[in-house]
Formats: sequence, structure tokens, C-alpha cells
Amino acid sequence: MTTTEVENFPGFPQGITGPQLMERMKTQAVRWGAELYTEDVTLVDITQRPFTVSSDEHKIKTHSIIIATGATAKRLDLPNEEKFWSRGISACAICDGTNPAFKGVQLAVIGGGDTAAEESIYLTKYASHVHLLVRRDEMRASKTMQQRVLENPKITVHWQTEAVDIYGEGRLEGVKVKNNQTGEFQELPAGGLFYAIGHIPNTQIFQGQLELDEAGYVVTRDFVKTSVEGIYAVGDVQDHEFRQAVTAAGSGCMGAMLAERWLSENGLAQEFAQGEVVKNSTPEESDNDQVADTVESFDLNSTHHLGGYALRRLYHESDRLIIVKYSAPTCAPCHSLKPILEKVVNEFKGKIHYVEIDIEQDPEIAENAGVMSTPTIQFFKNKALVEQFKGVKRKSEYRQMIRNNL
Ligand SMILES: Cc1cc2nc3c(=O)[nH]c(=O)nc-3n(C[C@H](O)[C@H](O)[C@H](O)COP(=O)(O)OP(=O)(O)OC[C@H]3O[C@@H](n4cnc5c(N)ncnc54)[C@H](O)[C@@H]3O)c2cc1C
Repeated sequence: MTTTEVENFPGFPQGITGPQLMERMKTQAVRWGAELYTEDVTLVDITQRPFTVSSDEHKIKTHSIIIATGATAKRLDLPNEEKFWSRGISACAICDGTNPAFKGVQLAVIGGGDTAAEESIYLTKYASHVHLLVRRDEMRASKTMQQRVLENPKITVHWQTEAVDIYGEGRLEGVKVKNNQTGEFQELPAGGLFYAIGHIPNTQIFQGQLELDEAGYVVTRDFVKTSVEGIYAVGDVQDHEFRQAVTAAGSGCMGAMLAERWLSENGLAQEFAQGEVVKNSTPEESDNDQVADTVESFDLNSTHHLGGYALRRLYHESDRLIIVKYSAPTCAPCHSLKPILEKVVNEFKGKIHYVEIDIEQDPEIAENAGVMSTPTIQFFKNKALVEQFKGVKRKSEYRQMIRNNL
């Protein structure tokens, strides 16, 4: 959900964007009977059977669990990091290195381990030069990898060097670095910056209940079995080696088949009677179905609206709370936000208005509203801006905000 082009997932010879790929997988799963809840699991109890999986809204009892919570790339929290994240900064060189923006320009990599070494070497295929920023005066990478880095004429290793910020007008132009030995600052030109400083597996809710390794990854044996019978871990949450969508999908399939087998063997499987399989439209088709409100189609009583015309009318004519979502087609977090916000909005149907603004379609609306980044959510009541949220928040925060202003 947080990347743009995915070029290496089988079956998409022209590539596909990350959010589109996820929408397609979701549509396929739902078509075959999966019930999806866009919720954060906050508590898991696997000390008693059946296990309990809880979110703010549901408590589910289950005999088997497939953990697929992934791993989050570590960040450095540099002042301009958020601005350039996925817009010049990447946590995956293998995934993003082929991006045309990175071809023939200087690139920088941060890290001192095997991943940093491997990614620096990989990027020399595309970059004019690669700067590797290493915090210490030595690398943690294996001797062979170090040698390959040091012997590569297209890589300069900057020892004892830390990134302090990123700069650029519109697009990333370079990295401000500091030599932690001399205290000297320097600006390194770079059209892309790659973080190779590790990941944090999303296993906090399993701590103390399941065997995890030192770094927090779920320990698996016999393919994807965990230390607790009936629980399987798949994808990046148990794999710090390959970390690719296709390997995650492959291990997901193993988890599903092993869970089904285990449930059957223990007499716990329940037959699911699949009704008539409906051919749903592809997400791209359904996105295209959305049409902006016009003079003819605008309805003051409806909750959902699209486009600048609707916003102007509602602003002047409605006394309901108006929630405006500013998004852009290329903004990955906007795709994550969509189902979260729509779920909350549907709970308040008839009491609020929800207007979606595509800032590429309605640039002047976004400019007048002072929206600099997407997604941004603005809440208006009686022609006044009462609150503004940037980025993706939890459902409970949107819910609270609406309740406070009904
Ligand atoms: C910027 C970027 C670009 C990439 N590009 C490529 C590429 O081009 N090709 C490629 O093959 N791979 C790419 N990858 C790697 C690929 O995305 C991962 O390997 C793959 O997504 C792993 O799948 P997963 O299902 O294990 O985990 P994820 O895709 O990380 O999914 C985990 C999910 O679990 C959810 N979750 C976590 N905790 C909870 C909780 N408590 N409750 C509910 N939900 C929870 C997360 O929100 C997330 O949706 C890229 C990764 C990044 C970061």
C-alpha cells in the first residue's frame, strides 16, 4: 500500500501500482467468501483455546490464526523525511531502484550491514554514482560484501557519517550529512535516498505468547508453523531474508493450506458454503465508476459527494458537519485511508456530508484550502474549519471528531 510501481509481481508484465495490486487481491478474496474488517488487532490471547483476537470493534474466537502483520521499515525521523518518504526516499532498493527518477543520477544509501552493501551494489546498475553512508568506522556486512563494495568504482563509502536532513525543491536533490568524528557538515547531491537500516516486525501483540527471535520476528519451522499448534506466520513477519510480495504471497498460501489441514485433522474445520460467485468489477473499473457531482446530480441530502462543485454547494447550503478528504491518485496512504474513513462515514449516514476532492482534478480547491500534502482531512461546520487531520489516523479518532461536532 505504500509503494508506487511494483514491477516484479508475476502476471503483470507492464507492472502495477502497489495499491492496485492490493485492491485486486482483496476483490479476489472477497469474491471467494473472505470477510474483511479494516481494523487494528489490539489484543491476542493464544494462551487458551479457542484463541481470542480482539480489535476495538470485534472479539473473535478462533481455533487457528495466520499471522501476516509484516514488518515496518525503520526510519530516522529526519526533519524532511515525511515530505520525501516514497517520493525520493525508499526502504527497498530492489523494489524501487528501477524507478526512472533514479536512473543516471547520484543516489545515497544509509546503513552498514549486508543489506546496505547489497543494495548499494544493486543500485550501481542504474545510478551514475552511489554514496554509502556508514555511521561507524567499519561495516557490519560480511567481509565478502564489504570487499565488493570497496572495490566498486561507482560506490563511495562515507565513514562515520550520518544523515541529518534531506533537501530539494519539489523533488529530492540531496542529503545533508554530518561527520560524527570531525563534526563537519556537508551536502551530498542525491536524487534518491535508500534506507537499509533494518525493519521492525509487527509482533508486539504476540510478545510473551509466541516464540520470537532476538529481532522480534516470529520463529517458524516446517515451512510456516509457529511454536503454538494451529498458529502460522507468513510473509515479512517471519522472513527477514527475501521480503518480497511474491515470497509473502507464497508463504501465505502455505499458511492457509497448513491451517486448513490442521483444522480438518482436529475435527475443527467448518464447511463454508459458497453462494453464487459474483464477478465483481476490478478496482480500477469501480474507481472509474465514480463521477463528480454536477448541477443535475447534486443532492443536498446525500452523505457521499465527489468534487469541487459539491463542496461549494454544501459549504453554502448545508448545516451538517462536512468532512472533506483531499487525496491524489498517486498517494499511497490515500488508498489505505479510503476504506477506514468510508467505514466511519457510513456509521453517520444522513447526519454528515463526506466530500472527496482529487487535488489533481480540483487543484484550485486544494490551493484555496491551503492543502499542501495528501491525504488531508478537513472538518467544516457552519462555514468554519473546525479541525484538520493529515495522514492516516485510527478510526476511533475520526469517530470522536465527528461525534464532537455533530
Ligand atoms: C516502499 C516499498 C516498496 C516495495 N516494493 C516492492 C516491489 O516492488 N516488489 C516486491 O515484491 N516487494 C516490494 N516490497 C516488499 C513487499 O511490500 C513486502 O514484502 C510484502 O508486502 C510483505 O507482505 P506481508 O503480507 O508479509 O506484509 P505487509 O504487506 O507489510 O502487510 C502487513 C499488514 O498487516 C497489517 N497489520 C500489522 N499489524 C496489524 C494489527 N495489529 N492489526 C491489524 N493489521 C495489522 C499492516 O497494516 C499491513 O497492512 C516493497 C516494500 C516497500 C516498503
